[in-house]
Amino acid sequence: MSPAWTARVLTLFPEMFPGPLGISLAGKALENGVWALETVDIRAFARDKHRSVDDTPFGGGPGMVMRPDVLDAALAGATGAALAGGQALGVTGQGRMIYLSPRGRLLDQALVKDLAAGPGVVLLCGRYEGVDQRVLDSRVIEEVSLGDFVLSGGEPAALALIDACVRLLPGVMGNAGTAGEESFEGGLLEYPHYTRPAVWTDGQGVERGVPEVLLSGHHENVRAWRLAEAEAVTQARRPDLWRVYAEAHEAEWNAREAKRRRRRKNRLAGERSAETGEG
Ligand code: SAH
Repeated sequence: MSPAWTARVLTLFPEMFPGPLGISLAGKALENGVWALETVDIRAFARDKHRSVDDTPFGGGPGMVMRPDVLDAALAGATGAALAGGQALGVTGQGRMIYLSPRGRLLDQALVKDLAAGPGVVLLCGRYEGVDQRVLDSRVIEEVSLGDFVLSGGEPAALALIDACVRLLPGVMGNAGTAGEESFEGGLLEYPHYTRPAVWTDGQGVERGVPEVLLSGHHENVRAWRLAEAEAVTQARRPDLWRVYAEAHEAEWNAREAKRRRRRKNRLAGERSAETGEG
């Protein structure tokens, strides 16, 4: 059996895990050993008698900063423990070390795919004002952000990252086919979905139908409609994604347009020669 994809989470609040990851598909997969979760209580690595993990920031300012010595000991403990305990688990490597941070690169599906394809992840969850910079400088730690907003701790971000990875692991999603068509696949947001009833009366008494093409059973037309919808919603909502997509498809569009123009020219030339009686 191949070793299970493992999420190792360093946190001051291990009781937050598995939390929502313990139910539904991720929960079942966890139970079945498709993936594994290990939490490391950062406080267990505090050295003084108050078990303090944070201190006031040099230079002044509000809040507290997580201490580098405690964090480093926790990271060493986590990855060291992973070697010893990991062998028992059949884990060959711990995977990339990530600090969840609003200053990091934005988490996207491409990164999720990369992480899911590896042996797992080691996630450091910050609290308070964050962690002492030196611990980040002294190890190979990537910073990853969930988005341009500030959480009170890295735990919800870790849960989101793990969730996104776990659903890509083989055997987690019931219908393996669905993953290929989703938002961000091919650089687009997803097309809209409809299901039964075919006509639904909403709260205002308005009868709402379903786009005809979806009831047609014509697969090629359905595919074309969905692509057009995906392109439209992406262009309207996400100019950043749209720019990349448009650039990637520009050559293809230009080629198609050139072909159309050539055909039109040939047709017009044909008509002209028919009129003048030549050809
Ligand atoms: N003072 C920091 C915010 C600290 S929030 C700043 O302004 O950048 C406390 C912890 O929550 C952080 O250490 C980080 O681990 C986590 N966190 C907050 N926002 C996050 C986000 N958008 N993505 C990932 N983690 C986040």
